[in-house]
Amino acid sequence: MEDGEDGEQYLFKIVIIGDSAVGKSNLLSRYARNEFNLHSKATIGVEFQTQSMEIDGKEVKAQIWDTAGQERFRAVTSAYYRGAVGALIVYDISRRTTFDSVPRWLQELNTHSDTTVAKMLVGNKCDLDNIRNISVEEGKSLAEVEGLFFIETSALDSTNVKKAFEIVIREIYSNVSRKVL
Ligand code: GDP
Ligand code: MG
Repeated sequence: MEDGEDGEQYLFKIVIIGDSAVGKSNLLSRYARNEFNLHSKATIGVEFQTQSMEIDGKEVKAQIWDTAGQERFRAVTSAYYRGAVGALIVYDISRRTTFDSVPRWLQELNTHSDTTVAKMLVGNKCDLDNIRNISVEEGKSLAEVEGLFFIETSALDSTNVKKAFEIVIREIYSNVSRKVL
């Protein structure tokens, strides 16, 4: 998705995927509104937030989509993925099953995307280090095998949340610029 007045403005669609309760909605609310919620919202349906940043003196807007509960039924629709140029694939570092699901989410993403997608593997809840089940090395090596960026975050204490989104946005921007050149 590119919104251009002489190529000076950009609008990118980014999707957040991963198992239920890994912290997807809280990563988005932390990034877009600096808010955190102890309880998951039960809202079903797609929601997105738009966030701007400046790169090379240009305004770059990211439209970041949250599954808002659809994933509980493994019913994330193709419309959700349509047009996405970036993705955060999230697991919970304290729950092994959510890490094991990552390849399936990647497969679903690949099935639905017809373009280059900047992908970040996100190990969320790094504040729960005392009950960690997936080591940093394990996360890193999966990311390497799958060709993803990797970061650990905490939506609770804000660690690396901004960084996770901004790395993806910068990568998308550089993918697009490369295409234009
Ligand atoms: P989603 O289903 O993937 O959207 O997950 P939510 O954002 O609704 O979060 C699920 C639960 O995990 C909620 O109770 C959150 O408060 C909690 N949670 C989310 N992010 C973190 C985090 O970084 N650290 C901790 N300790 N809990 C988190
Ligand atoms: Mg959610």
